[in-house]
Amino acid sequence: HKGIVVLAATNRPDSLDPALLRPGRFDRRIPVELPDLVGREAILKLHANDVKMEPGIDFGFVARTTPGASGADLANIINEAALRAVRMGRSRVTQEDITESVDVVIAGEKKKSTVLNDHEKEVVAYHETGHAIVAAVQDGKTPVSKITIVPRTMGALGYVMQVPEEEKYLNSKAELHDMIVGLLGGRAAEEIVFDTVTTGASNDIKQATNEARKMVTRFGMSDRIGTINYDDDSDEVFIGRDLAHTKTMSEAVAGEIDAEVKTIITDCYAKAKKLIEENIDVLHACAGLLLEKERITRDEFEALF
Ligand code: ZN
Repeated sequence: HKGIVVLAATNRPDSLDPALLRPGRFDRRIPVELPDLVGREAILKLHANDVKMEPGIDFGFVARTTPGASGADLANIINEAALRAVRMGRSRVTQEDITESVDVVIAGEKKKSTVLNDHEKEVVAYHETGHAIVAAVQDGKTPVSKITIVPRTMGALGYVMQVPEEEKYLNSKAELHDMIVGLLGGRAAEEIVFDTVTTGASNDIKQATNEARKMVTRFGMSDRIGTINYDDDSDEVFIGRDLAHTKTMSEAVAGEIDAEVKTIITDCYAKAKKLIEENIDVLHACAGLLLEKERITRDEFEALF
């Protein structure tokens, strides 16, 4: 009857019986969100305590390369780094072990069985370079820290790692535009160089479309639609919540939203192509280097400019 605290966790607080939540029952809610930059650094350091580390590891840098990672992901990064050190026959974890394990946790292990033919490899190299160039010429706030075309077990054929200089909580309309242009940079480069497009950009297109739709329906960034929310209450998105969502707009408005989303994507794609065409020499040089080395560092990439 005394000194007992009952805790419970759920992903679906929206679907709980209100009787459970009355005062004296489960009456206090503690939302557990993804850790921010400071939180990620602290979590990494905490898990690093259990592992022998080389002195002078830059945990702040690792935290900056892992936006969106959960506490479990970060624990896993340290664990993978320790396994890598053991595999290499070392008794201490180095910065490189951690950097490499970020790749593993974010994108999956290097996949040995995926053998791309030469043409596919070339397409991937140009695709990733396209992302990197657009990111580099648009703004200096999220410099490209690495480009690779090593296939990973989680499906990516290559990727560009960008490390933001600071964590952002507010994005301007222009910044969201830049982000969409960056997402479309891969497809744009493919079209410019090969005059045809591949299925490799499907995830980019999905993300770009989601961002554009949020600009229109959630952030009030479309003059035509105005500052009206046409999005469901997405601050409380839980698994399966979409089922309960009811439409609160007319067919006409839904059509206008689609048209606005299309306008944003079309404009951004045109801008991505323009930026890449303006830097076509860098595109060819970078893709060539990538084909040769499969992996380009920030310094090598910046030197190409
Ligand atoms: Zn891409």
